[in-house]
Amino acid sequence: MISVSNVRKLLYLRQAMRNQWLKKKEIEEIQRRMMRGMIVHAYDNVPFYHRKFREAGVTPDDIRTVEDLRKIPITTKKELKENFSDLIARGVDPSSCWMPRTSGSTGIPLKAAYGRRDEDYQKAIALRPNLACGQHLRDPWAVLTAPHHILDKKHWFQKLRFLSPTFINIFADLQEQIRLLEEMQPRVIDGYPSALYLLAREMKRTGRKTINPEIIFSTAEHLSPEMREGIESTFGIRMYDQFGCVEMGRTAWECPEHAGYHMDIDAVVMEFLRDGEPVASGERGEIVYTGLYHYAMPRIRYAVGDVGVPTDEECPCGRGLPLMKEVEGRSDSFIQTPDGRIYPQMTFWAIMRTFAHAEEIAQFRVIQERTDAITVPVVRGKNYREGIDEEIRRHIIGVLGEDVKITVSPVDELPRDPTGKVRTVISNAQIQW
Ligand SMILES: [Zn+2]
Repeated sequence: MISVSNVRKLLYLRQAMRNQWLKKKEIEEIQRRMMRGMIVHAYDNVPFYHRKFREAGVTPDDIRTVEDLRKIPITTKKELKENFSDLIARGVDPSSCWMPRTSGSTGIPLKAAYGRRDEDYQKAIALRPNLACGQHLRDPWAVLTAPHHILDKKHWFQKLRFLSPTFINIFADLQEQIRLLEEMQPRVIDGYPSALYLLAREMKRTGRKTINPEIIFSTAEHLSPEMREGIESTFGIRMYDQFGCVEMGRTAWECPEHAGYHMDIDAVVMEFLRDGEPVASGERGEIVYTGLYHYAMPRIRYAVGDVGVPTDEECPCGRGLPLMKEVEGRSDSFIQTPDGRIYPQMTFWAIMRTFAHAEEIAQFRVIQERTDAITVPVVRGKNYREGIDEEIRRHIIGVLGEDVKITVSPVDELPRDPTGKVRTVISNAQIQW
């Protein structure tokens, strides 16, 4: 039976599919109107934001344009965690909400509440890139994911009997994952880049060509150039990366032109800031979100901890959704030297490339314990030899300099974080932007 909620989801989806082709100015006007609605709602119905606005001397009348949002102070992760009940809008019963949780890989585990309508809108926005990249309603679709996602509430489209993904547990043995995929023969595979990469590497190693997806999406982790290359060359197709977070939902995605990531500005406002000021086109900035449909639990000027590069360039596809040029991963995926230089994790992929290709190492991680101390556990590859650790150490010192104490040590395996993600670069030091 088709429920009211499913009809609403389909209407949202149709609207989202239309919006992408509007002119940029037209979508910006939709964004502005949604933003106004959200600000009035948050001021009137959400104790946390009512207080925050009052303290900053701001009323909804002061926030007419997206630029005006800057009059409102940032909301931090810590605030989101500590004020959960004050962030729930009046009249909303939290127990009726969908509440995805973050992994806490950044040290602050969070939950976000989505009301029924919010959730319907979020699902439509999440589905838009898949359809835009050629996925069809009845395609066999495999999603490589961690068990806690599998146990989440079933996807709404499963109940509609189309767009129904089959979940593959990435904690299962790799051979078992491959067996399931061979049996299923998905046209579409979706998953964490690290899970896709491990799968691709195994297929390549064994020379098997038994899984032949036509579309691959990656999501939820930073996709390094190495991983992209490994996955694309194994399956012989270009893949599409998608961007978002548990707190805000899907927010940006690659279209078939691969010219950057289209931002879902009919779902969120994305600001890119450095020292509290917007960066110019082409510059790296910390992403601050304002949710436009997150009514049960508004998130206004929320600093999620991700970093990206906005651009004024237009995509040849003709979609009016503006582009973000690059996703550089979380701000705790950067390494900072004592003299203030900041390196994204790609730097370390570049350094390790030769060792990885020669199969001297199988995997590595870079952990900044303190500004002046970095440890690099490496999993031995099949061609591992004496002296590799020292060579790697020298290469890293060659880039970062002598002020940092680098310790490279071989290990048997690198633990995944509790959500199943494999993070390459982890900083426990506070980055000074
Ligand atoms: Zn495009």
